[in-house]
Amino acid sequence: MLRITMSITQQPRARGPGATRFAIIGGGYTGAIIARHLAERAHERIDQILVFEPRTELGAGLAYSAPDPSLRLNVAAHRMRAVPGDPGAFAVWLKKTGRLSADVSAVTDSGIYARRSDFGDFMGELLRPHMETGRILHVREQVVSMERTSAGWTLFTKSGTPTVVDAVVIATGHAPAKTPFQIPTHLMRTGQCVAAGDIGGLKRISTDETILIVGSGLSALDALSCLKSRNHRGPITILSRSGLLPRSHARGDFSPYGDFTLEQPTAISVLRRFRDVVAELTRDGVPWQSAMDALRHQGQTLWMQMPQQEQRRVLRHLRRWYEVHRFRMPPQIEALLQTEVGDAPVTFLSGRLTKVGSHGDRIRVDLSRRITKTAETLEVDRIIVATGPDQSNVLDYQPFLKNLADQGMLRPDRLGLGIDCDHLCRAISLRGNPQPSIVVAGPLTRGRFGEITGVPEIASQASAIVDYLLRWSTQQTRTIEIGA
Ligand SMILES: Cc1cc2nc3c(=O)[nH]c(=O)nc-3n(C[C@H](O)[C@H](O)[C@H](O)COP(=O)(O)OP(=O)(O)OC[C@H]3O[C@@H](n4cnc5c(N)ncnc54)[C@H](O)[C@@H]3O)c2cc1C
Repeated sequence: MLRITMSITQQPRARGPGATRFAIIGGGYTGAIIARHLAERAHERIDQILVFEPRTELGAGLAYSAPDPSLRLNVAAHRMRAVPGDPGAFAVWLKKTGRLSADVSAVTDSGIYARRSDFGDFMGELLRPHMETGRILHVREQVVSMERTSAGWTLFTKSGTPTVVDAVVIATGHAPAKTPFQIPTHLMRTGQCVAAGDIGGLKRISTDETILIVGSGLSALDALSCLKSRNHRGPITILSRSGLLPRSHARGDFSPYGDFTLEQPTAISVLRRFRDVVAELTRDGVPWQSAMDALRHQGQTLWMQMPQQEQRRVLRHLRRWYEVHRFRMPPQIEALLQTEVGDAPVTFLSGRLTKVGSHGDRIRVDLSRRITKTAETLEVDRIIVATGPDQSNVLDYQPFLKNLADQGMLRPDRLGLGIDCDHLCRAISLRGNPQPSIVVAGPLTRGRFGEITGVPEIASQASAIVDYLLRWSTQQTRTIEIGA
């Protein structure tokens, strides 16, 4: 398939007089859909849109650049709703391009669960026409710092190249996973401990090794899927604190059902309402997933109505419960678990690591079981860290964000989930003022919006962000004209 990759040497073209130039930092799904939507709706006063993204492709990011064909979307294709104004575009594309007929395992009783890399390719194709015209430029570089100047913002990349723009969208997405502190760093260096997202590292694992996967969310199931697709025969233990696994999707088609409008929503009142709705649905033979989908759709409103102490309660007591019901496993993984668990090579444990160290060529793992608090020791060949993106350090791992925070231009949100922003996604400065020319997008805004991880929610946010950017650019132009 034809892939368009703009080389690092391609420079932004000269800026048109009076035109607004936007930079988007991060070209995963969030940055790409904003760029595409902006390019589609832009008027003549909008200049070239620069997307800074070190990966070779735009649109794939962390989630959809997955090179392993066993890694699948956890949402049915018709529910991805990736393109504002054209919610069925991905499902149509899968059929039109022959991707679906080439991937028979995508079709399940619960819908079409396509390969994640197919979604990445779909996004790449959406952007292609705008990259060919030069409307969108992929700058294959990492932004390392950003400075305010009289001309706007100057962005500096790793190679030191400065670029001047008028406004910036921060769409740097997920932070890398944090290795549990009990795992000594030398195990990462020797490759005995591998991150779940490191597909190359997973492929180097011999099929008879004894494996411990730390974490039991979708990243753990991804790692399991990679191993099993390579006929892994050695025993695998999956350890997590809660011991909870992502739930399954329901068979057949159903609509979201349930009204979660509450006068003063609290963690407990939402949970009670959810249970009532599920009881009602169960009486009518409708799966609980219908209530969960309704709760997800109303999630942003509920979250924003909750006082901060209730939001904290949700995070403390309901987060894991919400996540396992909300982020459900693709049916293909469910089938894999059903066949393999019977043969007992996969064991699930709930508990926490207490100590990890080398033991000859192997690794000795001491853990404490959750309910019984009993100590247990495992000897394994390899540890896979699948604890998911580390949401607690989004500012620290990005030098340019840390630098902006140090200058007081932005601040972490009060729950420590991402960057503080207002309802228009404008970053809030240390002093509490919205910054009109710094917009935050995607999962980084979860402190404000709560439910903003999946593609459909990000797509609607992208649409609102583009509305704002176009309004802002028009105001800027007027200000310049009046001043001139
Ligand atoms: C493994 C995984 C699977 C998922 N599967 C699904 C799914 O099936 N369905 C669904 O709806 N949602 C899924 N999601 C949710 C996901 O959050 C969103 O769908 C979406 O992909 C988020 O995209 P993003 O661009 O915000 O973040 P990311 O995908 O993290 O992309 C951010 C990009 O920013 C770039 N970047 C970072 N720092 C810089 C910098 N300083 N300069 C320049 N570029 C930078 C990175 O290279 C990266 O490509 C999944 C998430 C993960 C992690």
